[in-house]
Amino acid sequence: MSSPRTPDDDVGTLPGIRAARRTAFEKMGVETLADLLRLAPRRYEDRRHPCPIEDLESETTVLVIGRVEASKAFRTRGGVSILEATVTDGTGSVHARWFYRGFCPRPLEKDRRVALYGAVKKSRTGRAELQAPELERLPADDEEPGPGVGRIVPVHPRTTGLSATLVRKAVWDALEAAAAVPDPIPAATRAQADLPALGDALRDLHFPDDLEAAERARVRLAFDELLVHELLLARRRTARQTQRAPTIAFAPRVHERIRARLPFTLTAGQEEAIGEIVADLERPAPMYRLLQGDVGSGKTAVAAYALLGAVAEGWQTVFMAPTDVLARQHQDTLETLLAGSRVRVERLSGRMRAAPRREALARIAAGEADIVIGTHAVLGEEVLFRSLGLVVVDEQHKFGVRQRRTLLAKGEGSGLEARRPHCLVMTATPIPRTLALTVWGDMDVSVVRGTIPGRTPVETLVVTPSEGRTVMERVKAELAAGHQAYVIYPLVEESGKLDLKDAHAGRDRWTKALPDHQVGLLHGRLARDAKEEVMQAFREGALDVLVATVVVEVGVDVPNATVLVVEHAERFGLSQLHQLRGRVGRGAAGGLCVLVDRSKGDDTPARLDVLAGDTDGFVIAEEDLKLRGVGDVFGTRQHGRPAFRAASLPRDLPILTRARAAARAIVAADPGLAAPAHGGLARAVTARLRHLDAQDRDAAQSAR
Ligand code: ADP
Ligand code: MG
Repeated sequence: MSSPRTPDDDVGTLPGIRAARRTAFEKMGVETLADLLRLAPRRYEDRRHPCPIEDLESETTVLVIGRVEASKAFRTRGGVSILEATVTDGTGSVHARWFYRGFCPRPLEKDRRVALYGAVKKSRTGRAELQAPELERLPADDEEPGPGVGRIVPVHPRTTGLSATLVRKAVWDALEAAAAVPDPIPAATRAQADLPALGDALRDLHFPDDLEAAERARVRLAFDELLVHELLLARRRTARQTQRAPTIAFAPRVHERIRARLPFTLTAGQEEAIGEIVADLERPAPMYRLLQGDVGSGKTAVAAYALLGAVAEGWQTVFMAPTDVLARQHQDTLETLLAGSRVRVERLSGRMRAAPRREALARIAAGEADIVIGTHAVLGEEVLFRSLGLVVVDEQHKFGVRQRRTLLAKGEGSGLEARRPHCLVMTATPIPRTLALTVWGDMDVSVVRGTIPGRTPVETLVVTPSEGRTVMERVKAELAAGHQAYVIYPLVEESGKLDLKDAHAGRDRWTKALPDHQVGLLHGRLARDAKEEVMQAFREGALDVLVATVVVEVGVDVPNATVLVVEHAERFGLSQLHQLRGRVGRGAAGGLCVLVDRSKGDDTPARLDVLAGDTDGFVIAEEDLKLRGVGDVFGTRQHGRPAFRAASLPRDLPILTRARAAARAIVAADPGLAAPAHGGLARAVTARLRHLDAQDRDAAQSAR
């Protein structure tokens, strides 16, 4: 017997896990035995009681234990090998059959004890058969059977190169290390939250006595993960409360002057959000607020209000957008609002020539620029402010955690004291409450509710390609009425290259079909200047139809555009389609959204119907979350790395709530997690931070 296994042992030290299998485990994020033991099963199979063969019923899944009566293996002409066996348990006999490609296995030894687990089929003659059941060769009668027999059996996630049986065997072998895995949760917290000890939970997670024990174990592991996540958020929140920010109190005449400049009356929803933001700005701790609102709810006006107020009180501000196109749009909006005022708007773009850029930077540093607009270029190290008071980030979900952190650090170098700017981040991806709590749990949240008066809801049609004529008619009618149209193509990423064929072909087709109209093409591969030119032409009405890839997905505001056609709608996520749909119906004229479904069946029509039936982005996002999971909804799907392993949201929201309470209590007592009892948690938090950073880098890379 070799020395006992320990949690830090590499999975490669387990019997049968070498080379390719070791690599496959690594791809699942499993390197040590401790990692492996935390790998939650997808489901369980009840294999506690073997079924007497005489009782086998068709269409049931059963465990059969018996002796091999006869067995043979042979190769067919088609190159498929077949292994057959007849197994008896004294009550009857059952036939089993397995198929192999390539190699021909040896027949099972006669009288060998075996366990078979699989679905029962009755043959035409009424004989019971098992098709490719899971096979386990059993030891002599008095020895304990292996992991797949006589118990509740875990079915783990599979990946290429690792079958569920193989993973189960590996976990079985690793189990002796379970008791030695250090429990990061202090005993007091564990008692309070009524959680089993980690060692017990790890055993019950895989080989529970009953399903209740399995669920208790899963809850325990989910709690661990969510607690660490909540600790991270709680620490950020407390850290922020000790930081200083400028107190920006709006004088009454400032409110009056801003309102006088707005071309419309603010909605009640906008007023409420503005009230919350203004109150934050007056406090000496930095604001860190998420402004959520459905597409077209008028978030820009809320942001403009905050920016203008801060400027009026003598502070510099930043307005950051995810794309140059949007930065330009915001610049236009603000400059229109500010016509004739002394407020100085400066736009920074990555494409600026050296000399103008240097001059712009000098103006910013000298405090001669009041509102600095741009993409994340405004976060560059060389951009220094004289007195930065407020940063507004539009379409926040397009930015990573890391960029947000850079942003928050930005104020430090400015001015005489180390002060942080207030920070407002906006998102039009309506984030379900569950997600908002998870990902932005360290932020305060405002929601712009309600709709802007005078809007007619967008009509949404799901059509098949055969209805192309009808679509064309509707588009022509809108154009004839002097309106504009978007036609959206998916951006297909194949072997790293963007496949623009569809969009190009689409432009040509529409140009031909609409000889009297101007058709433009916008896609991610265009140089930034070219993108802006096309967008500007569309905004000014020089283009009637804009054929585009998802570049227009977020934020673009052209009220005269009333119709939007989405090609291959089945390739988009629901939330993304909802975003796209938000590009139309922004004026008084209403809007039409046509989703062309080219999926030829599948499950997509039902999915798209959710959109046709609903106009509330929050409902759609919840639906999207159910269908696709967290990563997809954010557009930052991690490559095989789930955000959580044992926890699953929104299902585990109740656990999240408990974990948050525990995290707050822990941080209140020990903000630095410095107590010896919190050592395990402190390490886990650090590891989690590293994990998030890595995800961020991946997301940033794939966004490029
Ligand atoms: P989003 O929340 O999607 O960013 P925008 O801020 O772009 O929405 O606003 C959408 C449109 O509604 C813009 O054309 C804007 O001028 C207009 N708008 C915003 N607030 C109001 C309001 N209170 N009354 C009328 N129109 C408004
Ligand atoms: Mg917007």
